[in-house]
Amino acid sequence: MAKLLLGKEVNASLNERVRSKAARLREAGITPTLAILRVGERPDDLAYEKGARKRHEALGIDCRSVVLPAEARQEELLAAVEELNRDASVHGVLMLRPLPAHIDERLVCGALRAEKDVDGQTEASMAGVFTGSGVGFAPCTAQACMEILAHYGIDCAGRRAVVVGRSLIVGKPAAMLLLQKNATVTVCHTRTADLVEVTRQADILLVAAGRAGVIGAEHVSEGQIVIDVGIHVGADGRLCGDVDFDAVSPVVEAITPVPGGVGSVTTSVLAEHVTEAALRMYRDRQSRIYIRQETF
Ligand code: NAP
Repeated sequence: MAKLLLGKEVNASLNERVRSKAARLREAGITPTLAILRVGERPDDLAYEKGARKRHEALGIDCRSVVLPAEARQEELLAAVEELNRDASVHGVLMLRPLPAHIDERLVCGALRAEKDVDGQTEASMAGVFTGSGVGFAPCTAQACMEILAHYGIDCAGRRAVVVGRSLIVGKPAAMLLLQKNATVTVCHTRTADLVEVTRQADILLVAAGRAGVIGAEHVSEGQIVIDVGIHVGADGRLCGDVDFDAVSPVVEAITPVPGGVGSVTTSVLAEHVTEAALRMYRDRQSRIYIRQETF
């Protein structure tokens, strides 16, 4: 039976890092702050916001909600983003998506400053992930996969990583992050010929296909590490992933469960990004003060 790669174990060490960074920032007079920008009152958004607020506050990060009515005009939303861009007391902004259909999501996301884009929602952040330039942040879910691998000491260098899924939010950034860690990466999608043949070759198999149970016993082989990003409500009402856990776990070496795997690490990564954004802004301000002192 496979070893379980548990989100709660990853969170314990990740949260400790965040807590200590937040405490150091507070000692320096900075309260790390996340603004959650919400349009409307969708129950999913409200539930997510409540959970994120609780988790962040427990780690020493302030959370501020900015709420616009569901019928808000695009200009109003852009003005709210601009105000958050300018507000020096806000270090990270999370825009709850999808935005209502009458809003151009790409345009509004693009208006957010990459420095505050703690969930990698802007093209500037995406460029940062692809170039490794350190601008912006990777999407939290893709980063959560990397945190799990790092926590369990799984070295990616020289290993064959196969990513199933090529979305901008998970598959593509995850592939780039694996590449940064020197894995040899293959990205699969619905047009991949002979998916079984490709996935069986992987040392690390990361699945973000958005289809419940799409990866079965025939797709895997012994010794593999399987990271399951999918989240679905199964026919029995229970949560399940993109990987058929019961079929795959007897074969592979290690696997993330659903629930209790990637999903549970995502919010901790968001908190990590908020403290990192606050730290970067603090360092940037300090260096500008230093330059001014040097100049005059
Ligand atoms: P998405 O936008 O629907 O993308 C799915 C990708 O998988 C597409 O690239 C698609 O290929 C590919 N795909 C679908 N079926 C396939 C198949 N049978 N064989 C090979 N490739 C296949 O989904 P997403 O937003 O990336 O999300 C993926 C999963 O992660 C979902 O279950 C979602 O709920 C979950 N998720 C979890 C978190 C978290 O915090 N844990 C966060 C975000 C998403 P094409 O490009 O060819 O269509």
